[in-house]
Amino acid sequence: MTVGIVYDSIFKKHVARFDHPECPERLDAVVNGLKRAGVWEEATHIVPVEATVMELCTVHEALYVERLLQTVDGSRRGNLDPDTFFSAGSRDAALRAAGGAIEMAKRVHDRELDWGFAAVRPPGHHAESNRACGFCMLNNIAIAAGVLLEQKMAARLAIVDWDVHHGNGTQQQFYSNPDVLYISIHQWPHFPGSGLSTEMGTGEGVGKNVNVPFPPGMGDVEYADAFERLVLPLLHAFRPEHILVSAGFDAHRLDFLSGMRLSTEAYQYMTRQLKEVAQRVCDGRISFYLEGGYQLNALSDAIVALCDGMRALPLASPQGTPSSTGKKIVDDTIGAISASWGGIF
Ligand SMILES: [Zn+2]
Repeated sequence: MTVGIVYDSIFKKHVARFDHPECPERLDAVVNGLKRAGVWEEATHIVPVEATVMELCTVHEALYVERLLQTVDGSRRGNLDPDTFFSAGSRDAALRAAGGAIEMAKRVHDRELDWGFAAVRPPGHHAESNRACGFCMLNNIAIAAGVLLEQKMAARLAIVDWDVHHGNGTQQQFYSNPDVLYISIHQWPHFPGSGLSTEMGTGEGVGKNVNVPFPPGMGDVEYADAFERLVLPLLHAFRPEHILVSAGFDAHRLDFLSGMRLSTEAYQYMTRQLKEVAQRVCDGRISFYLEGGYQLNALSDAIVALCDGMRALPLASPQGTPSSTGKKIVDDTIGAISASWGGIF
């Protein structure tokens, strides 16, 4: 199995002035997890090059990109919003994170790689077309998807976002696009505030934006319920040509930026489910892009679990009955989008 990994020490040169949860040590934890899983040594290491302005503009506005690169100019440090810092290394890191994401997506899509993991910083899914947000400047996964679509490599893509925060950027960038199915399971209410079940796309994209806004306290059985009754049927019906995953690990029960209760094993379960549907509908094309995950031990362990999920290891589904609260949220989301999906539910 050929695994592609995007990593570059430049990603650790993006540093906040003071202690910040989105810290360079996160990547050490990820690399440690990839090594412990036995994936790092065997992997094809993709040396990321900077994304071009044209590539960034598949999802970002040209004026935003111009202003961002004027501000994040490789010499200064500062903040783009109260959460989103930049330092001298941030320009190179952000451009190579997006560039690496594009290259990995293309090589997985071409089946040169079986699957891929982009261990990149800064993360991306909060960055909207015209603003930085929530530690994110450029929406790496959305840019990768945008390039696959723009270059006609793919006609239909799915983005599954299990980061505990709603991917407001990805939602916004594909909100009216019928060729991108965006599915997010996240904590709500929580940062950034968006992500209700009723936010289901617009125009031709109605029904292709799917939000599962769980309250804090949901765990493995509620996520499994969402996967079995919603995520997997949608992916089977949509038949994407590639599944891209916004892989944040901050819904882990040890993470301090959320109140979710996922175990480490849940990441193996979710990965395996997505891998299996990818094998059925899109020749196994699946790629992962690091988003959040702030408790370093939990992050590292969850990366091992993800790698285990991509292997043919025995897998136990979470046992138990989902809470009525969790079940109702999944029901609400199904209720919101079912009219757009021709009776699959
Ligand atoms: Zn997050």
